[in-house]
Amino acid sequence: MNLILFGPPGAGKGTQADLIAEPRGWPKLSTGDMLRAAVAAQTEIGKKAQKVMDRGELVPDEVVVGIISDRIDDPDCKAGFILDGFPRTIPQAEALDQMVAVKDLTLDVVIEIQVEDHVLIERIEKRATESDQVRADDNVETLKNRLSVYREQTAPLLPYYEKQGKLKAVDGMRDIEGVAAQIGDILNHI
Ligand code: ADP
Repeated sequence: MNLILFGPPGAGKGTQADLIAEPRGWPKLSTGDMLRAAVAAQTEIGKKAQKVMDRGELVPDEVVVGIISDRIDDPDCKAGFILDGFPRTIPQAEALDQMVAVKDLTLDVVIEIQVEDHVLIERIEKRATESDQVRADDNVETLKNRLSVYREQTAPLLPYYEKQGKLKAVDGMRDIEGVAAQIGDILNHI
């Protein structure tokens, strides 16, 4: 099964993607993790992405589309994969639709993790104080920018996938197990 975990920054997509990935053996394809790895390795992509990411803005569509298109071809994606943090714009979603069609794959479901803004801000503040290796983009200023980028560029994907009949929502205000249980329910019914 191929699915997208969707939601604002701090919604818990990465945590839930790990919980789904492990028992099912589907890789988690996180563009955020891949870009951070590119930054750490100081590759050409990493050098270009770093400043944009630190500001909480989006790296160019063609960069992430290229990364995902290559990654989906890896043999470990054959049984299924979980997209985390991609797509984030309408052109990325259109590119993904095209790429799955060309590769003869299907996108089965898009799961939206719904969390209110004030909780997102609390979570990121907590993550920023607790983590030893604070992510450069985990501060309140950048988070606010990431939230407005989400609202402007990423939230329009909700009606896009609603129209395709692929969108399902879960309550992301519950605890980690509670959110995981709702996602498990959805996956069991596909
Ligand atoms: P979040 O905590 O918002 O889920 P991510 O780890 O997914 O953060 O992404 C961190 C940063 O990486 C984003 O703010 C953005 O700069 C960049 N990024 C990740 N995925 C994408 C994407 N699909 N398109 C453009 N930029 C991306």
